[in-house]
Amino acid sequence: MTLYLDHAATSPVRRGVLDAMAPFLTTRFGNPSSTHAVGDAAARALEEARRGVARHLGMRPNDVIFTSGATPHEVVFTAGGTESNNLAIKGIAVAAALDRGARHVVTTAIEHSSILEPMRQLRRVHGFEVTVLPVDRHGVVDPAAVGRALRADTALMALGAANNEVGTVQPVTQIRDVCRAASVPLHVDAVQAAGWLPLSGVAAEGRRSPLGDAVALSGHKIGAPAGSGVLAVRQRIPLEPLLHGGGQERGRRSGTESVAGAVALRTALDVAEAERESAAQRVSDVRDAFVRDVLARVDGADLTGHPTERLPHIASFTVAGAGGESVLLDLERRGVIASSGSACSAASVDPSHVLVALGIGDDLARTAIRFSLAASTPDLTPVVAALAEAVSAHVGAGR
Ligand code: PLP
Repeated sequence: MTLYLDHAATSPVRRGVLDAMAPFLTTRFGNPSSTHAVGDAAARALEEARRGVARHLGMRPNDVIFTSGATPHEVVFTAGGTESNNLAIKGIAVAAALDRGARHVVTTAIEHSSILEPMRQLRRVHGFEVTVLPVDRHGVVDPAAVGRALRADTALMALGAANNEVGTVQPVTQIRDVCRAASVPLHVDAVQAAGWLPLSGVAAEGRRSPLGDAVALSGHKIGAPAGSGVLAVRQRIPLEPLLHGGGQERGRRSGTESVAGAVALRTALDVAEAERESAAQRVSDVRDAFVRDVLARVDGADLTGHPTERLPHIASFTVAGAGGESVLLDLERRGVIASSGSACSAASVDPSHVLVALGIGDDLARTAIRFSLAASTPDLTPVVAALAEAVSAHVGAGR
């Protein structure tokens, strides 16, 4: 039997989500922009999905998303977390450059490539200055350092609510307050946090609101298909679209909408949010026991990331002296599927930029093994034994 422990890379579509989206691929297939009844039905389903997502992000339930200036955020459906991060970063930064000549952006050294690469493109193509903040050895960003980095010409600060490789959770509320005080928009990549941490915070006015001025979500981490995503963005923030065409999504994102994808994402969020607290508690317990046993029984193993401020579902280790890839292959032969970290860079021979930013040396960083769990993951005692055996079979391979 195979135990899949790479849910931070992707997770299967939930059965209820598949059932909810299926009609929009078959009988209710309309194009929401069409003016006939079939199109109208699709448009209504899309708006219903939008309202559902908005509620989970902390927007007030009765906000009419697209009809009045009173709504603080808009929900834009995208094709995933990468597009949502690109739209937020390039969209907000380029608009700020056009608006007020702002050409400075801030991020951190441990971000997902879908944050770091758009920033590099801003530098290369549009002449932006990019400040990349360091993190401490647990991967935590210092809100005071964010405050010091922000300037009058800063267009945007962007960071992940929680890291996908080591699981460290950032002090996002404090960082949001610092950004707000400096009038700099904050983009929060909540792709890994969704389903595990609350997606909304209490705003200064005491009302619930999304954690950032912009928030990115990805469907395939929470039980919807890959290719579905959301960017929620505060209305008053100018945003240059990435995709130009028919003006769908109120001009934010042209292209015929995937109604099925939007319905799937909303349904997956409904389930994830309903189960979030109990799942987080149960999975944290499974993970804590696993971490404790791995540290006790696997030679050379060390936990990466913050010891307590971490996502419930991610446990990542370095294993001094072991060959990371050969241990992973050996584990797979023993029926355990894990990864070396980010799926996007798993094929790379370079050490993870996240682990290097935590101060871990290149050789040790190459021994990284990440286990990422789902709400349904059983007790991991057998995995500890498999890891201990795989490591002792491959000690020396990493030297
Ligand atoms: N942001 C984070 C933190 C991620 O972990 C990922 C995917 O691994 C993404 C963004 C990209 O999301 P997607 O795969 O939907 O493009």
